Amino acid sequence: MLSKNMMNAVGLQSEQTFRNDFFFSRELPENLQLLDKISWNFFWSWRPAGANLFREIEPALWDQCEQNPRLFLKNISQLRLWQKSFDHEYIENLKRFAEEFEKYSTEPVKTFGAVTPEHPVAYFCAEYGVHNSLPNYSGGLGILAGDHLKSASDLNVPLVAVGLLYRYGYFRQKIGHDGWQQEKYHDVFTSELAVKPVTDENGERVFVSVNIRGREVQAQAWLAEIGRIKLYLLDTNLPQNAEVDRLITGHLYGGDTETRIVQEKVLGIGGVRLLRKLGVSPSVFHLNEGHSAFLTLELAREFLDANPDKTFGDAIAYVRENCVFTTHTPVAAGNDEFSPEKLSECFDASFFSQLKITEQEFFALGRTNPANESEWFGMTPFALRMCRSANGVSEKHGEVSRELWLKMFPEGTKAENVPITHITNGVHAPTWIAPIFQSLYEKHIGADWAQLIRDERKWRAAIEKIPNAEIWKAHVSLKNLLVSFIRHKTFSKETGLHETINEREDTNKLFSPGVLTIGFARRVAAYKRWDLLFSDLDRLLKLVDDPDRPVQFVFAGKAHPQDRIGKQVLQKLMSINHNSSWQNRAVFIEDYDQEVARYLVQGVDVWLNVPRRPLEASGTSGQKAAMNGGLNFSILDGWWIEGYNKENGFSIGELKVDGDEEIIDREDAEALYTVLENEIVPAFYSKDENNLPTEWIRRLKNALITLTPQFSSDRMVKDYIENIYN
Ligand SMILES: *Cc1c(COP(=O)(O)O)cnc(C)c1O
Repeated sequence: MLSKNMMNAVGLQSEQTFRNDFFFSRELPENLQLLDKISWNFFWSWRPAGANLFREIEPALWDQCEQNPRLFLKNISQLRLWQKSFDHEYIENLKRFAEEFEKYSTEPVKTFGAVTPEHPVAYFCAEYGVHNSLPNYSGGLGILAGDHLKSASDLNVPLVAVGLLYRYGYFRQKIGHDGWQQEKYHDVFTSELAVKPVTDENGERVFVSVNIRGREVQAQAWLAEIGRIKLYLLDTNLPQNAEVDRLITGHLYGGDTETRIVQEKVLGIGGVRLLRKLGVSPSVFHLNEGHSAFLTLELAREFLDANPDKTFGDAIAYVRENCVFTTHTPVAAGNDEFSPEKLSECFDASFFSQLKITEQEFFALGRTNPANESEWFGMTPFALRMCRSANGVSEKHGEVSRELWLKMFPEGTKAENVPITHITNGVHAPTWIAPIFQSLYEKHIGADWAQLIRDERKWRAAIEKIPNAEIWKAHVSLKNLLVSFIRHKTFSKETGLHETINEREDTNKLFSPGVLTIGFARRVAAYKRWDLLFSDLDRLLKLVDDPDRPVQFVFAGKAHPQDRIGKQVLQKLMSINHNSSWQNRAVFIEDYDQEVARYLVQGVDVWLNVPRRPLEASGTSGQKAAMNGGLNFSILDGWWIEGYNKENGFSIGELKVDGDEEIIDREDAEALYTVLENEIVPAFYSKDENNLPTEWIRRLKNALITLTPQFSSDRMVKDYIENIYN
């Protein structure tokens, strides 16, 4: 994060509400002009050599610009550019990277059954976490969508993606002196993002309009290029719109229910209209989470427009054939529900007459029991009705979803016959695997190591051959990097760039690379059970204070702005201040985002997760940790039920639990401490004659071998192609 002064220094402004965006053009020395081209496609972000091209010019500025190449090129000094233009080695690297990019981006997309270049997948999601320099996500769902696009790109899948561009993105987190979370929204200027205005063949800007609250609201479209994939983002911040309509795409998940409804109208209805304007004719519409489900109404309207003699029932049958739905959470707050009154305010009566239905018939489509007029309109039941296929995001989540939505199906239906399947989430290996492991793989496997991940047998053989000492050395380097990152973050917080949360004389006492390091970073939501670890503080501090075999913890995570209980959990964590080493061995990193996540998942020894069963639909951060030599230590829920094989990490508690929440919490806490004390700490600290923790490395290697292929988003996208899109 940047301080106010630094923000001004690098040309960021946060105060103005509506500023005319402008495009800067920067004269780059001729042999550096390739940098401009590279900066416009996020391909650079999942290639270590790509980020280096920018960082290397001026590392401090790169970090000040938060790894945003557009902002970086805008602010880099002319002098530095000219100096670099004489650096032959740099120019060679730049050329080589540009060639690689050219080759990658010109490779044609392929055909996968019904999914063809003429009829691609249309992927809809309310958030995308492609890279921190496109701050258009809040957490797991967005990161997953970003990884989906990157794998689709790597696999040459014909896919176009649609989303919204939020003027203020998601909030940035700060923790005050009193330990209370504060939220701040930054203005996101399109001129500083790698997004381009979408224009038609005459060079005119493309707009779509959606009727909202009785007005025709205009949205403009932006294009972000994710390798070979085009991501279109709609934005209503236009002078021709009323002020309140300009703010429809203001905050991600920050508004009230009415804002949610109208955002989802722009995404779903506006999104389909945009694709039509661009001449895109999808073979399938993928609703990634229910937020975009209104798109099915637009498809029905189109169908009835073209077939005036047909009924809405015919339209549903047609729409269902073309739409597939992924549900992402069994937690109520994650499933949008709207009151009929609110929906009435946001939809025009003429919209329903075009669909040949009444408002009441529309409301019924979003109820689990259509006849129950007291039930609100749920986007998940609505999506389940309007799509031919539905899936959860892990095997367990599929099962839980079938039980959860059983009530929508005729009495007597068995849960196992509810038509909801599963595709387990995965993560994009080149994005999440640290450069140092990538080099190791390049050295031992070859430049095409990322392709080998797709073949479990070959991958196993390749990893087994890498010497233990080299793997361990890579891990230790990453851990050192994490420790420096933690000290740097804490130091900058205390030297005026941020407010202090507690006084530390000397950040160099903070954390130690030799100490067993446990990471816990996730949303501060009740079911994530942050308090479990602190339920027996004496026992925890004993582990931290152990003179010979201590443990240290790094925490990160945001509480929802309206979640007071979540904020209290954070405050409690900040206030732990016993007469112990806790102050130096536990740290909370503010503003958990993709960049922080990268340092954490790549540098820790152990990645902890303690959700309340069965509410963790999948979880993906543990997959990232596993791919970087971290061992998962987790409740058996979500993806870990599928991933855990007794050798590649640690489990907490039993697979199936019954009974009172309080009792389960106590049992899980007991299991957490016991496994830490009796298994994890001893295994980590037992070294062989070469000072290598052989037992630990054996597990770590097993994790790299078994979890990398199974939980890569390449595998996930292939599963979607085979089982859902076709
Ligand atoms: C991967 C990731 C997540 C999702 O991880 P979970 O395991 O579901 O908590 C959330 N936020 C960020 C920044 C991530 O990188």
